[in-house]
Amino acid sequence: MKVNHAEIVISAVSKKQYPEDHLPEIALAGRSNVGKSSFINRLINRKNLARTSSKPGKTQTLNFYRINESFYFVDVPGYGYAKVSKKEREKWGRMMEEYFQTRDTLKAVVLVTDLRHDPTQDDIQMYDFIKYYDLPVIIIGTKLDKITKNKRKKHINRSKQVLDIDETDIFIPFSAEIGEGKDEAWSALSQYLRG
Ligand code: GDP
Repeated sequence: MKVNHAEIVISAVSKKQYPEDHLPEIALAGRSNVGKSSFINRLINRKNLARTSSKPGKTQTLNFYRINESFYFVDVPGYGYAKVSKKEREKWGRMMEEYFQTRDTLKAVVLVTDLRHDPTQDDIQMYDFIKYYDLPVIIIGTKLDKITKNKRKKHINRSKQVLDIDETDIFIPFSAEIGEGKDEAWSALSQYLRG
């Protein structure tokens, strides 16, 4: 997909702030610092629309990016940051529940994991959470460039196995650094953005 237009529309903390133009949405979930912003920026060919290395623990918002006036990427707050208080964690849970449960325009969720390491307990919980709401999931195993070529297959299989993904789920090895997996990611996304 050629992206001509990309803009942040709103950083929402609650449902009443979500955009109301009924465009389809793709949510992006992942641990803090996993490379979610870099994934978005690489896909839309922008250096810094989505903020990279945003500080964990700051105000948690759902960031709605409108792309080509035709759909939204919704960056949801990262999880798994150890220093976040129990209260903050609960707030995060409520926000995610409200969004996943009620948002009719949400078509699929991209789950970004770090391909270098086994998915964490938090990643597994997030995967299960997405499945619980019966949402289609696309898993992006990022930082592929940091793994030597002969070890890549092993890491991919290991990630799939630890997450215990359904056979029908799409898993895409990706690198924001070199752009590998970009075309595969777009073609996976486009099937949820049609019509
Ligand atoms: P976010 O907190 O999930 O949005 O993570 P960021 O996109 O800010 O990325 C966190 C760090 O990982 C940054 O220093 C990025 O440059 C780096 N990073 C993200 N994706 C990749 C990748 O595919 N390859 C490499 N080598 N580094 C990456």
